[in-house]
This record gives sequence, C-alpha cells and structure tokens, in this order.
Amino acid sequence: MAFVLTGATLIDGNGGAPLNNAAVYVEGERIAWVGSASDLPPAAQNAEQVDVSGKWLMPGIIDAHIHICYNGSESTFALLEKPRDDLVLEAVDICERTLAQGVTTIRDVGGEQYIEMSLRKAIDRGFIRGPRMKLSGRVISMTGGHAHFIAREADGPDEMRKAAREQIKAGADLVKLMATGGSATPGQDIHASQLTVEEIAAVTEVAHMMGRHVAAHCHGTGGIRNCMLGGVDTIEHGTYLDEETADMMVENGAQLVLTLGAGNPDLESYPLSPVQQADAKRRKPMIEQGVKQIRKTIALARAKGIFLGIGTDAGGNPLAPHQFAMARELELLVENDLTAMEAITIGTRNNAKVLRWDDEIGTVEAGKYADLLLLDADPLVDIRNLREIAAVYKGGEKV
Ligand SMILES: [Zn+2]
Repeated sequence: MAFVLTGATLIDGNGGAPLNNAAVYVEGERIAWVGSASDLPPAAQNAEQVDVSGKWLMPGIIDAHIHICYNGSESTFALLEKPRDDLVLEAVDICERTLAQGVTTIRDVGGEQYIEMSLRKAIDRGFIRGPRMKLSGRVISMTGGHAHFIAREADGPDEMRKAAREQIKAGADLVKLMATGGSATPGQDIHASQLTVEEIAAVTEVAHMMGRHVAAHCHGTGGIRNCMLGGVDTIEHGTYLDEETADMMVENGAQLVLTLGAGNPDLESYPLSPVQQADAKRRKPMIEQGVKQIRKTIALARAKGIFLGIGTDAGGNPLAPHQFAMARELELLVENDLTAMEAITIGTRNNAKVLRWDDEIGTVEAGKYADLLLLDADPLVDIRNLREIAAVYKGGEKV
C-alpha cells in the first residue's frame, strides 16, 4: 500500500519553519519521501494521491508519561478493588481514545498487573487499536513509599536490583522509581526523599547493563539530587528543581519530563464526579502552589538548557482523565511562555528522544514510521487547534 498526502502545511517536528504545499509519500508503514508537492519523485506520482490541502500535517504526538491502565477519574484505591477484567476492558477503551486523539506513542511509567504488556501485544497483533508503547511495568518504591499500593516495594540495593530485574523480565523497556513523596498518596510529604543514592545507583547499574533507561518520580530537590548522583536518566515532574540540581542534570545529560496537566487539572471541561470534587478540594492548596512553582522550574530548566520532554500523567490521579490530555499539556507549555512550535517539538521529537526511539518516530522524515496527525486548523496560530483532528495515521494506516 502506498499513498501521498499532498497540499498540507507540514510541521515536521524538528522545529523549523513549516513547509507549505508539502507532500508526504507513505509506502507500507513508513515514510518514503517528504518534500514540496511540486518536486514529487516519479515513484510517488504513481501512488494514490490524497489531497489534504488546507490542512496541517505533523508527527503523531508522543505522551512521555502516562498510566494507561488507570482511568484518571476514580481513586487508585477504588480501581484496585475492581475485577481485573473490568480494568482490562476499560484500558482497551483508553488505548483507542488515546490514539484517536492524535497520540500515536506512549511511555507508560506505572502499570497494573502487567495489563499494559498484554495491551501492547494485542495492539501489535491487531486485535485492538492503540498507540505504540514503551513500558516500565510496576513502579518501584520503598516500603510505604509513593504509590506503594501499586508498587513493587523494595528496600536496600540488593532488593532494588531484584525488583528492577523483575520488571525487565516481564518486558519492561525502562525502570520507574519513586524517589520522593507524591501528592496522589494521601499523607505524604512531596519534599521527602524516599530512596538512597545507593538504592538508586543499584537500579541504574542493572537497568543500563540491560540497555534500559531509568525514570524517577521526583518533586523535592533532595530526590532530584539523589537521582543525579545515582545516574537516573529522566526526572519525572521535577517540581522543585533548583540551580544546583539543574546544573547536575545538564552535566549528566539527564532529561526533564514535565507533567503539567495532572497538577493543574482542567476542572471546567468535563463534569466532576463526587470523588473528583473531593480530590479537587483536598489538593487545592497543593495545586495552587504547584502551578506557581512549576512556572519557575520551567524558566530555570530552559535558562540552563535542560533537555525537556513532556507527559500527561493521565491516569495518575482522579483529576487526570485521558481526555485530550496531551493537547492540554502542550497548551500549558504555551501558557508557560513557550511558543506553539517549541511545545509541538517537545511533544514529538524531544519525546521520541526521551523514549530512546527517535530513530523511528517523532518527526516526519523519510525512513520513520508514518505516524501522522492531520489537523483542520493551524496549531501554530492557536495551540488549542491540536484538538481539531481531521485524521490520525499510525504506521501508514488511517485510524
Ligand atoms: Zn505518573
């Protein structure tokens, strides 16, 4: 199967000026050629021509921090009481909706009973539809640590090694650690460090030996410092980054994966259930403080030149539904003074690098998977136009 999308304005994900009247030639599941519609190579001229003039074409969006097994509208405790089959069937729906919203790849950083591994297999075999996936399996936390109710609890370097190896055995592409407290765990101090440098270093050593990267949930500064001393690759959230830890991240080449929407829920665009209302009330002071703090963190990270990725944390708490969560995430980057082009680049090319998958996804370039998002309106004029979806292609197939 081969076709050419012609006439759209192309935003290729590399951050340069958009290309008007572009053509993207797709052969099978990959992009074979990209350029101006007037320079179409002979092979492409014989393929089916799909006129998409008047539309905007960009890479499929990548969510670098998601929890695909949780619906993001009930408490995790309530979800854990459900029969496993109920979780599975709802997760199938979440996979389908995520893809339909233009997110063609995700990085799940905290799964449930390895359901996410089965979802990936079902998607790869064509039983259900959903995004490409990089998966961490179960999160690893200290005994009683952040999200311990879903975690593989482990203490001390030896147990941490074993816990990491268990995830890799189950099919994990990365290992996820909980290095500080978190607001989704009632009664926790988000500033408290929860893993020692030795425990973190034990995990990064065994993960790197197996070609996996390590992501760590961090809010407090001490946790970020421990993670940099322990060789962590990506800091998730990074709320209380300071000068010293920012410098350490640059020195290590570590990446910061911001999650803005889960800490700044969009309470207007959907009806809140009583559970959500209660959670919004409980977390109100934390949310207000967090929004102010993250503005400072983003400015500091950009001033220091830290490599930025972005994810939704959708599913991570009862106010993080899988509802245009990446569109909102990129909108919030623009609210934090980035241009729409910078936001789109972070949500595509940069996130592909966070996933260690930039050789095959993240930009509209020859040789990469034809994961494409076609929009009815210009996202550079108004980033909210990421919700104006005309079509989504994954591996050259229209969803
Ligand atoms: Zn999370």
